[in-house]
Amino acid sequence: MIDLRSDTVTRPSPAMLSAMVSARTGDDVYGDDPTVNALEAEAARLSGKAAALFLPTGTQANLVALLTHCERGEEYIVGQQAHNYKYEAGGAAVLGSIQPQPIEAAEDGTLPLAKVAACIKPDDIHFARTRLLSLENTIGGKVLPVDYLAEAYRFTREHQLALHIDGARIFNAAVALELELSALSRYCDTLTICLSKGLGAPVGSLLCGDEAYIQRARRWRKMTGGGMRQAGILAAAGLYALENNVMRLQEDHDNARWLAEQLGTLGLTVTQHTNMVFAQLPAEQVAPLKAWMQAHNILIPAAPVTRLVTHLDVDRAALTQVINQWRAFLAAQ
Ligand SMILES: *Cc1c(COP(=O)(O)O)cnc(C)c1O
Repeated sequence: MIDLRSDTVTRPSPAMLSAMVSARTGDDVYGDDPTVNALEAEAARLSGKAAALFLPTGTQANLVALLTHCERGEEYIVGQQAHNYKYEAGGAAVLGSIQPQPIEAAEDGTLPLAKVAACIKPDDIHFARTRLLSLENTIGGKVLPVDYLAEAYRFTREHQLALHIDGARIFNAAVALELELSALSRYCDTLTICLSKGLGAPVGSLLCGDEAYIQRARRWRKMTGGGMRQAGILAAAGLYALENNVMRLQEDHDNARWLAEQLGTLGLTVTQHTNMVFAQLPAEQVAPLKAWMQAHNILIPAAPVTRLVTHLDVDRAALTQVINQWRAFLAAQ
């Protein structure tokens, strides 16, 4: 199967599996797992933050991040299309009594700071207390400009807000900009990173921040059921991913660009950012195209704007097959 539905579909490689099998482990709830400790130290080092916390999923990492930043009756300002507003089942509101204040993002994925400013509530008993600005990088594959990150960081200092980055795909941003992670993460208080997307680990996310913050986050992780025991077998995959699968993200971006160009030559309207390609389909082609592809062992979502995501389990030869099948499908219409 050639699976372009997401970069979450990657499988651990033999080398990653062998790192997992030979991992040293201990009980991480006691702080005794050397491999988890090594992964957390490496995430702290790469992000330039004092500490990091290993969590099972990105959703839980964002939830724990929000629970640690905001108390009951407080709010975070967030994009209308942001994962930690729209795609996490309302967890912050349901489990944290934290109010989201969503705003529409600009075309480039940034949240315009004038709009953010207009949403900050005055200190008045009518209002929730505004605590946090949450940005997502990359968002829909788009890389937030570094100048914007710097400006947003300054803005949050002026307004006594914390700044959180949902950086599930932040390494895609860093690689696209040819910058170290720390050149981006210096402009936030806290940052989440997914190991289970383009980095190819089967499980795992990291939350990075200062010591006191991560200490409090550790309690929220325990409370939300994320305290894992011999998690070193999972952390070993994460360490392997950070060591081996970051720089190769450029290949995914190059493959996505190539795929977008090829779809363009088939007459489709296509946009592409980092490892994501968005192809517009006529309504009547949506379901038949998906079925055609599936019959040829290619998995794509069915939508009028179909999102195709490149990752380490699809190479140029696989994408050539996709283009050949797409051409065959169009010819058969
Ligand atoms: C995938 C994703 C998450 C959630 O990660 P899971 O591990 O699937 O829970 C959070 N934020 C963003 C931006 C994501 O793309």
